[in-house]
Amino acid sequence: MLKKIMRNIDTKDISIEITDKHIDLVKEEIKKINIKRMKAMGIITLVIELFIVLVFDIHKIKSNEFRQVDKIYTILHLSIFTWAAITVYFVSRFSRNSNNKIYDYLPIFSNFVVMIFISIIAVLDQMTIGNITAYISMLLTCGALILIAFPYNILVYTVPHIFFLVLLQRYSATSSLFVANAINSSIFYFSVLIFTRMLYKNQVSQIGKNILLEDINKKILQLSNYDSLTGLANRRYFEELVRKDIESNCVLENESIVAIMDVDLFKDINDKHGHYVGDLVLKNVAKVINKTIGNINLIARWGGEEFIFFFQGIPMEDVDIKLNKLRRNIEKSVVRIDNKELRITASFGYAKVMGNTRDEFDEAFKFADKALYRAKRIGRNCVVMN
Ligand code: GH3
Ligand code: MG
Ligand code: MG
Repeated sequence: MLKKIMRNIDTKDISIEITDKHIDLVKEEIKKINIKRMKAMGIITLVIELFIVLVFDIHKIKSNEFRQVDKIYTILHLSIFTWAAITVYFVSRFSRNSNNKIYDYLPIFSNFVVMIFISIIAVLDQMTIGNITAYISMLLTCGALILIAFPYNILVYTVPHIFFLVLLQRYSATSSLFVANAINSSIFYFSVLIFTRMLYKNQVSQIGKNILLEDINKKILQLSNYDSLTGLANRRYFEELVRKDIESNCVLENESIVAIMDVDLFKDINDKHGHYVGDLVLKNVAKVINKTIGNINLIARWGGEEFIFFFQGIPMEDVDIKLNKLRRNIEKSVVRIDNKELRITASFGYAKVMGNTRDEFDEAFKFADKALYRAKRIGRNCVVMN
């Protein structure tokens, strides 16, 4: 049922494929809604039942007019109280045991039990007040609050309803009263079957759409912040992160260093082997960067075959060691294409950021660029500090 509703969500406008992961997320969300509502219902029931037992039932027991039917009422109220307490106990443990299978069936089972109790109470009412208000109001409350998928909704309301009709027939004062109550309650029963299905469908499509939109949001962020070829942050995102760090004022107070890396003679790779191979080499470079430097610092693809690093709170000597290690790892790494082994090198320039403003960061960037230029001039495959 849930799968079918999800597959019916119109995804043309949002161009996204509905996967099993989305369906599981919707299931989880429905479960959470039910648990939350059951908790509220359980607590309200505890209070009401306690009130009924303390104010009415105990009063009746003390008086002389305590009849057999009052005894059954009291037992029933105490049973509903106990059931509500059990439900509240289980639902309050939900956050700790949310994977427990019990929570998949608890809303269905609990609704079923409540409807059976209320059927018996409504039939007892036939011997006293003669109406079925309790049954109808509980039927509507459960139907409106607890989201139950087809065909469980049929089971949860039909079995108690048949049970109710059988008892009603047996205990109604007159047969015309039975017919009137049976017709009225059955009209409500059918309406509840229809609207529980509609409610469930609406809720699933609404939650489903929200989950799909969240997914799209994540994808948009991924597309706008990361470079699709290397998977590293792009220039725009790098600048945004640097700006945030500068605004938060916490980073540049520590020693911070900007480094630029440029792949040597990369144009030759493209010219000799084609752009496709050039792309593979860039991907491999990004892999080596990730392996060697990791993601403890800001790393981005600055553009073309250039990469940028922003080291924070790391002493200059350590940065020099890291960059030289990266340089050696790039030199050692091999890209194999059609039995050919491609090797490349890279040059580095770095400079210290002399303060904690954006201008000082830009200044350091210019110095790092100059250092890179020198690295190229003195023969490439080296790390130069400015
Ligand atoms: P140098 O050692 O002086 O840096 O020489 P170089 O050849 O690496 O420098 P140059 O700036 O002349 O060439 C860079 C080349 O990088 C030119 C451009 O076609 C290529 N390039 C830029 N972006 C990409 C890309 O995304 N994929 C591929 N395959 N090539 C790219
Ligand atoms: Mg370049
Ligand atoms: Mg280059």
